[in-house]
Amino acid sequence: MSDLDPRPTPTTCGGRDDVASGPVHELLAPRRVPLGESTVVRRLLPSLGRRMVGAWCFVDHYGPDDIADEPGMQVPPHPHIGLQTVSWLHAGEVLHRDSLGSLRTVRPKELGLMTAGRAIAHSEESPRAHGQILHGAQLWVALPGSDRHSDPSFEHHADLPVVTAPGVDATVILGELDGASSPGTTHTPIVGADLVLADGADIRLPVEPDFEYAALTMSGVTEVDGVRLEPGSMLYLGCGRRDLRLRADGESGLLLLGGEPFEEKLIMWWNFVGRTNEEIAEARRDWMSGDRFGTVHGYAGAPIPAPALPATPLKPRGRTR
Ligand code: MN
Repeated sequence: MSDLDPRPTPTTCGGRDDVASGPVHELLAPRRVPLGESTVVRRLLPSLGRRMVGAWCFVDHYGPDDIADEPGMQVPPHPHIGLQTVSWLHAGEVLHRDSLGSLRTVRPKELGLMTAGRAIAHSEESPRAHGQILHGAQLWVALPGSDRHSDPSFEHHADLPVVTAPGVDATVILGELDGASSPGTTHTPIVGADLVLADGADIRLPVEPDFEYAALTMSGVTEVDGVRLEPGSMLYLGCGRRDLRLRADGESGLLLLGGEPFEEKLIMWWNFVGRTNEEIAEARRDWMSGDRFGTVHGYAGAPIPAPALPATPLKPRGRTR
C-alpha cells in the first residue's frame, strides 16, 4: 500500500506523551482516501488524534468491495524505508512484487510481511483473474532504531497459529497472543490478531497491561469493553488492562492491534518512516534518481513518482496533536 496523496502531510509520532497509561475509549474516525483508479480505503491511523498504537503506525481498511468488473487494487511500484508492511485479507487476493524479486499471492488469513529496513520497493495488485470481493487491511509497523537500517526481506506465512476459546477463533498475525506466537519476524513487543467471534460470543481475552491496544471491527457488530463498534470503526483502548471483554451480536470479525508504546520519535512522510528531515529528503532523492531501492519487475505500469517535500523541514516532535 502506498500513500498516493499528491501532497502528503508529514506526521510526527512516537514517544510517550500521547500514550494513555490507563484504560480509555477513544473512537477513531476513518478518513476516506482514494488509492489508485478504482479503490477507496478508510485510513484509521494516523488520524487526527492518534498516530500510533505500539509500533503500529498506519492502518488502512478497505472493502468489502465488489470488484468483479473492476481492476481492483492497483498500486504501482513505490518505495519504503524504516517500516514493515502487513497485508491482511478477509476476502480476495493481492499479488505482491518487490525489488528483491519476490512474487507472491497473499490470500485471506495469510500473512504477507515485508520488512523495508534501509530500502525496498514493491507493488500490490489484484491479479487479473480475481475473486469477486476484496476486503482487507494494510498495516505498517515502525522499525526501532536498532533494526531500521537492516536488509530488506519479504515473508509469506500461510499457516498462522489460531487460539480458540468458546465463541472465538483468534489468528495470531504478528507477535504473541495467549501463549501462541506468529512466525512473522518482529522487532518490538507487539501483537496483531484477527478474531472471529460467533453470534452471542462474550469473552474476556487475556491482554498485556503494559501494551496499548486498539480494536478494528472488520465485519459484523462487536462490543469491545462495552463500546459498540460498527464495521470499519476503530477504538483506541490505551494501556492497563489484564483482559479485554469482547461481545458479538451476530458473527463478526475484529482486528486487535497492540504493543509496547513506541519510545522513539519518528517522522512519517509519504511511504517513509525516518528520524530526520535529511534522511527523508535523501530517500526521496534516491527513489527519484533510481538509486538504493532497486527495481520491481513485472508490474504493468510506471512506478509512482515521489511527491514534493513540504516547504517547511520535517521535525520529529513526539506525539503532540
Ligand atoms: Mn507499500
